[in-house]
Amino acid sequence: MSERIREKLQILADAAKYDVSCSSSGSNRKNTNKGLGDASSSGICHTYTEDGRCVSLLKILLTNHCIFDCAFCVSRKSNDVKRAAFTVDEVVELTMSFYRRNYIEGLFLSSGIFKNADYTMERLVRIAKKLRLENNFNGYIHLKTIPGASQELLTEAGLYADRMSINLEMPTESGLKLLAPDKSHDDVKKPLGFIKDSIIALKDEKKLIRSTPKFVPAGQSTQMVIGATPETDMEIMYSANEYYKNYDLKRVYYSGYIPISYDTRMPVIGSQPPLLRENRLYQTDWLMRFYGFDVQEILNEKNPHLDVDIDPKLSWALRNMESFPIDINTADYQMILRVPGIGVGSAKKIVMARKFGRLRSDQLRQMGIAYNRARYFIRCADSIFQLNEPDGFVVKQRILAESNSKYLKIPQNQLTLF
Ligand code: SF4
Repeated sequence: MSERIREKLQILADAAKYDVSCSSSGSNRKNTNKGLGDASSSGICHTYTEDGRCVSLLKILLTNHCIFDCAFCVSRKSNDVKRAAFTVDEVVELTMSFYRRNYIEGLFLSSGIFKNADYTMERLVRIAKKLRLENNFNGYIHLKTIPGASQELLTEAGLYADRMSINLEMPTESGLKLLAPDKSHDDVKKPLGFIKDSIIALKDEKKLIRSTPKFVPAGQSTQMVIGATPETDMEIMYSANEYYKNYDLKRVYYSGYIPISYDTRMPVIGSQPPLLRENRLYQTDWLMRFYGFDVQEILNEKNPHLDVDIDPKLSWALRNMESFPIDINTADYQMILRVPGIGVGSAKKIVMARKFGRLRSDQLRQMGIAYNRARYFIRCADSIFQLNEPDGFVVKQRILAESNSKYLKIPQNQLTLF
């Protein structure tokens, strides 16, 4: 690798690190035509997949030149940083050579905006096309959608990429206007809607014509920057909920803002990124997607912020003690899912196992539930009769006293994210 390419790689991989929207799953592209690589259904991510495996991908910007000046972004045009840009062939060559050496399992390609949206998007599409058609690359490709790019280019991109994503940046329109007055959430909604409709249309077509090509098989995602603007957790999660519902997103990512500039509108340089808050938002996201919670149950006018001491499921349960304890041997599956300390896997095991007899606490422990936490909210075959149920405050104190959460140990003392 030449010195210049090495330098470009350093600059453009460094600039790409702020984008966390590259975890992925659901693509099952196969290795065809004796090509190179494949993207398994468990997905590819630059850190951890959903099943916990650590996998790698080449995560770079095509360029960190940008015509925009978004205050929160390291690539903004007014920022005094070293600039670089790859050519199409350089990205293709890097991807292929890294893949052959087993360094990576795919490509995550984003970009600053060169001259205009189409000029940039056209280059991203050319890279994906060249990898697929000329190099027979069947590994994972995640492409950024450039806001304002033409529908023709988006359609072409969708034929070669596994996943596409476009960043909301700030959770609300007012937050975005504060830091990036030239941008609007409408610029994000239009392409998200177009890709969503195209995915549905091509899926329907595939039912009739088998040779219909795949189109963005791993779906779309987006990212919000958290903590740069003053949105409440409620505003953040309501916004995420809207995008999940309206655009059928696979994931919304929450990226704690890392102060990178002296700007009175944002947290000062040196402030810690809000990692605990980021974690609580992800937990809430999980509850909405896999546990049947409505976002209003967790966050509402009365509770606009997530509890930092405890996770959102426990927080909800403590606010709704009148719904507990539930009898683990008779409660329905959805209610079992709501018990703190019981996950989706354990809830399924409980429903299966109780067909063969009433379950006791030792059996629940064997199934992997966090019994010390769940015990305040359930009754099972060997539960001791209690005249008075403990109230939420008492339960919270007991659970906190027993907790060994890594976040509780280092609440204000996180290391930097990167
Ligand atoms: S358009 Fe994108 S790359 Fe350019 S400054 Fe704004 S956030 Fe950064």
